[in-house]
Amino acid sequence: MQEINQQKPILITGGTGYIASWIIKYLLEKGLDVRATVRDKSNSEKYKHLIDIAENSTGKLTIFEADLLKMGSFKEAMKDCELVFHTASPFKISGIKNAQQELIEPALDGTRNVLNSAKENQSVKRIVLTASVVSMHGDAADMKETENGIFTDKDWNTTSSETHKPYSYSKVLAEKEAWKIVETQDQFDLVTVHPGFVLGPSLTRRRDSASIDFMISMLNGKYKTGVPDLTLGIVDIRDLANVHIAAAFNPKAEGRYIATAGSANMLELASFLKKKYSAKYKIPKMKLPKIMLYLFGPMQGFSWKQIKLNMGLPLKFDNSKSINELGVSYRPIEETVLDHAEQIIRDGLV
Ligand code: NAP
Repeated sequence: MQEINQQKPILITGGTGYIASWIIKYLLEKGLDVRATVRDKSNSEKYKHLIDIAENSTGKLTIFEADLLKMGSFKEAMKDCELVFHTASPFKISGIKNAQQELIEPALDGTRNVLNSAKENQSVKRIVLTASVVSMHGDAADMKETENGIFTDKDWNTTSSETHKPYSYSKVLAEKEAWKIVETQDQFDLVTVHPGFVLGPSLTRRRDSASIDFMISMLNGKYKTGVPDLTLGIVDIRDLANVHIAAAFNPKAEGRYIATAGSANMLELASFLKKKYSAKYKIPKMKLPKIMLYLFGPMQGFSWKQIKLNMGLPLKFDNSKSINELGVSYRPIEETVLDHAEQIIRDGLV
């Protein structure tokens, strides 16, 4: 695999995002030359935090405008870059009206757009794609089919579709397309990072990211009658940014890397919050009975099929490849949850 010249500019797509912001912060703190794409450059409120970080670091930041659905729009920002982080993709798990338009097209066409531009740009040597554990598994029930009762980098999600877990489906299609495009050339290599559900302090006061909205809901009473009996693979946003950076600069990095600290049930996540915040906030105290989920789940965006194939079932991911090959480590989930809650409270989001 190829060594990346750290003097060259680095492109990151979806610069306004929850995850991208932390990657950009760490790159700027390393003194690197970072180009971030945003959909609307005139909406500087969305990336002001990045400008502030750049001003207090030794790195250089340039903002470019590009849209996943505008073919060729990433070309200018990519010029002379050896390294591209492709993080931009809609992350939406509820309230989806048209999965094709809201999720599948931007994820799939966007990946084509970015990777095809890289093919036409001879400087690009490596693309680090923010994939997801959902391109390895569809439902928790799929774990029965795995070789050792745990999802690994060898697994693919074969059960999601446009109507069942469309976000997961969009991530599978986008990742498969990325690997297909890489096969057609030998100029750049591809490394994919597969985060579990990402939690941890956000660098902005945004609420419209699924991860941030989830933590707000754990504090604001949305789940005061109980949480779904759902287990999630979890990763801290700061650790995840480090995984991306290790995947980018380690010349030996190759293939797919699961990035999770471990798995936790929603009630376990609530129990971490309860120790510190139960006096002031309505922290969930129990699991919702399955019957309640069947009755009210559809209103919250959980279909009966999703309930049957996920609720009450274990979910495990093998993160050893990222630890052994990239040398990264993962902080305890409790620390992630408490740091995230602290940011949300400090920023007045609950
Ligand atoms: P986020 O905060 O919602 O960020 C999504 C980013 O994608 C935003 O910068 C958004 O730009 C950009 N984007 C969406 N549609 C676009 C379009 N048509 N053209 C250009 N940019 C577009 O979400 P996130 O949590 O940071 O997610 C980033 C990546 O991580 C996604 O690929 C997601 O699938 C993946 N991921 C997230 C999690 C998680 O738990 N958060 C877990 C696994 C994988 P605007 O600001 O213009 O909307």
